[in-house]
Amino acid sequence: MSRGFDLLISGGLLVDGTARPARPADVAADAGRLTVLPPGSRVEAARVVDARGLVVAPGFIDAHTHSDGVALLDRDSADGGRDRELVRASVLQGVTTEICGNCGSSLFPALPERLDAMRSEAEISFGGDVGAYPDFAGFAAAHAAVPRANHLASLVGHGTLRAGVVGPVDRPVSAAELRTMCELLDRSLSQGAAGLSSGLIYAPGTYADTEELVALAAVAARHGKPYVTHLRDEMSRVEEALEEAVEISRRSGAPLHVSHHKTAGRYAWGRTARTLPRIAELRAGGMDVTCDVYPYTAGSTALAAMLPPWANDGGLAALTARLGDPAARDRMRRAIAEGVAGWENTVGNGGWDRISVACAPRHPETEGRTIAELAAAAAADPLDVAADLLVAERGEVTIISHSMVEEDVRRVLAAPYAMVGSDGVPKPGGRPHPRWAGTFPRVLGRYVRELGLLSLEEAVHKMTRMTAVRFGLAGRGVIRDGAHADLVVFDPATVADRATFAEPLLPPAGVAAVVVGGAVVVRDGEETGARPGTVLTP
Ligand SMILES: [Zn+2]
Repeated sequence: MSRGFDLLISGGLLVDGTARPARPADVAADAGRLTVLPPGSRVEAARVVDARGLVVAPGFIDAHTHSDGVALLDRDSADGGRDRELVRASVLQGVTTEICGNCGSSLFPALPERLDAMRSEAEISFGGDVGAYPDFAGFAAAHAAVPRANHLASLVGHGTLRAGVVGPVDRPVSAAELRTMCELLDRSLSQGAAGLSSGLIYAPGTYADTEELVALAAVAARHGKPYVTHLRDEMSRVEEALEEAVEISRRSGAPLHVSHHKTAGRYAWGRTARTLPRIAELRAGGMDVTCDVYPYTAGSTALAAMLPPWANDGGLAALTARLGDPAARDRMRRAIAEGVAGWENTVGNGGWDRISVACAPRHPETEGRTIAELAAAAAADPLDVAADLLVAERGEVTIISHSMVEEDVRRVLAAPYAMVGSDGVPKPGGRPHPRWAGTFPRVLGRYVRELGLLSLEEAVHKMTRMTAVRFGLAGRGVIRDGAHADLVVFDPATVADRATFAEPLLPPAGVAAVVVGGAVVVRDGEETGARPGTVLTP
C-alpha cells in the first residue's frame, strides 16, 4: 500500500539515537512526525532525499550553548554578514535544537525596574543588543518574532536571576530577595524554561553561597527540572566544587548536570581520573547526575573573568573604575599571584601565555595573540595589558584559554553519562573558539572515525537522546514512529570539522542534509532558507 509523505529519506543507515546498533531503514516524515519504514519501501513522498551510503540520525541537540540572542542579533544586522555566519553554524553541523541559558547567564528573568540595566550588561555577554526580558514568556515571544532554522530551549540563568533582583553586587541576598528570586524562577519554569543553570566563577553568580543555590534548585526540583552548573572551580579545587554541586542536588532534590566538565590548569591535569569515578559512584548510588563536554583542549570566556571576584563587584562601570586605579591593579596582580580563597584563578593556574585574545572589536590586531605576547611586545606587565584592553573595549573582550590536556577530554567524552555541548561564545567578529562551528562533526570525525574512542551509535546517543531525556524534550533525539521529524543525514566516512583557531567559522564537511520539523533546512552543506524552528517548552 502506498500513501503520501511530506519527505522520504531512503536507503540510509539508521542510527536511531538510543545507542542500539545501526540498521538499514527508510525514514519518512509527515506533518512534522516520523515513520520508520523497511528499507526499499515504495511510498509516495513530496520530497525524497537519497541517503545511500549515509547515516540517518536524529538531529543533534546541543546541550550547552550561549546562543540566547544570536537570532536576535541577526534580526538587527544591516548586512547580515558575520551574524548570519554565527547563526547558521549550528544548523550546518546538524544541530536541530540548542539549549541556551547556560553558565548562569540567560536573557531573563528580571524585575521590571532592572530590565534597562540588564539589557546593557547583556550586550557584552551575548554579542550585541539582544534585549532583556522579564520572564521566559517574554524571551520566547521575542524569538517567535524572528524566523529560525532550528529549535531553541532555555535554562534560567542564576546569575541573571540574581542580577535581575538585587543587581550585580557582591553581598548575600536577603530572605525577601531570595523569595523574589524563587518566585521569578518558578514563573519562568512554569512557562517552559528547561531548568536552572549557575555559573559560579562569574560575577554575580560567584557571590552566591551554597544555601542560596539550594533554595533555588529546590524550585527546579519541584518542576522536575535539573540544576545545571558551571562549577565554582574547574581547576585546582575541582573536586571540592563538584562536592558543592552534589550537596546542592542532594538537599534540593534537583537532578544534577555538570556543564562542560573539565579539570583544567596544570595542577588539575589528569584529575578526571578522580572526578569521573566519583560521578559514577554517585550514579550507582541512585543519584541522577550527568555532564556535558566539548571536544577541545581549550576553553573560551570573558577576559574580565580572569580577575578576582571583587574586581567585578558592581558591574562594568565599577570594574572600569577599578581598572583605572593603579592600587586596585596591584591588588588584582597580587590576587592572581597568590590566589583568593574560593576563587578559581585561571591565570594563576596556567599563566598569561595560555590566554589568547579571541575578540576585541576595537583592537583586532590583538586577536589571536596571547596576553603574554602582547605584554612582551609592549614591554609591559601582562595584567596592565589585560586591564588596558578591557578599559579600551568597555569590558567586551573574549579570550581562549589553552588550559586542558587531551587525556582528560577523552576520558570525559567516553564517560557513559557525558553528552556533547558546544559552549560557543557569540561574537560577531574576531576569532571565536572553533567549537562554535565544529563541535559535532569533530566528535564524529576525530573521536569516532579516527581515534575509535566511541562507536558511532554511542556518539550519536550522546548528541541526541541522552540530551533530550536530560532536558525533558519529549519525542526528540530519537528516530521512531511518532517522534518529531528533526534529522541529520551525514557521511560517516567524511564527516569532519573544518573550523580552526585561525579560521573558526568554517562549516564542517560531510553533512548532507538537516531536517527540522519535517522541513529540509540544510542540503549538501548549504542552508535552504527554510525557517521551521521554534522555541521549545519542555
Ligand atoms: Zn560555562
